[in-house]
Amino acid sequence: MNVTPKLVIGNWKMNGLREASLQLATAVAEGARSLPDDVRMVICPPFTQLDRVAEALEGAGASLMLGAQDCHTAVSGAHTGDISAEMLADTGVRYVLLGHSERRQAHGENDALIRQKVQAAEAAGLIPVVCIGETMAERQDGRAATVLASQIDGSLTDNFNGVLAYEPVWAIGSGVTPSREELERTLLLLRGLLQSRLKMDDIRVPILYGGSVTPAQAPTILSIGVLGGVLVGSASLEARSFLRIAEAA
Ligand code: PEP
Repeated sequence: MNVTPKLVIGNWKMNGLREASLQLATAVAEGARSLPDDVRMVICPPFTQLDRVAEALEGAGASLMLGAQDCHTAVSGAHTGDISAEMLADTGVRYVLLGHSERRQAHGENDALIRQKVQAAEAAGLIPVVCIGETMAERQDGRAATVLASQIDGSLTDNFNGVLAYEPVWAIGSGVTPSREELERTLLLLRGLLQSRLKMDDIRVPILYGGSVTPAQAPTILSIGVLGGVLVGSASLEARSFLRIAEAA
């Protein structure tokens, strides 16, 4: 396997009961077998389905891995309703989404908290996938670059070695995506921001795009050479769509 495979991560969000989760994960595992070595799919089901999906992914190897949608900052303790990074690792999870805009908005998560979660994930041996992105209002006010810079400054650790997911909030679940040119410009900006934040050549931190990725748009988006992959919401809930996106990577 290439050192930096293109990542195609599926975020199931709060979707998936027992049977449907098993069927979906099994179908993705089946299709992932014929993917080239330089593509890696990751499924992030809700916590309740992690065990089941882990079983469905057994034997899939490096081409299909298990992810989670969040973790707590602490290893264990009095945190009712929360799940630690160590617990995720113990369930077979390899990747964890952190700072998704839905958590920033609905749970009031800020960059300082996200950075603590990144530390917890790193300590547990997980690969953090830190989500950043500007809202429509911030974009219209010309503040996108400032917002992205402050999210990168605040939510990454100094030795961050995970994945960055650029998910403009206005593109999530809206059916609207940035143009190829706009995305290329933003990726260039993010590369520069990562370089100054991490004070080194940032080439080891892949940058993903997320927001209304469908099988139809995936070839254009994924043809951007510097893009490290995609983070997919709704289209990851249907095995064929998700696999078609991976085939475009
Ligand atoms: C997401 O929520 O991470 C996402 C990318 O969603 P969608 O693909 O549905 O826009």
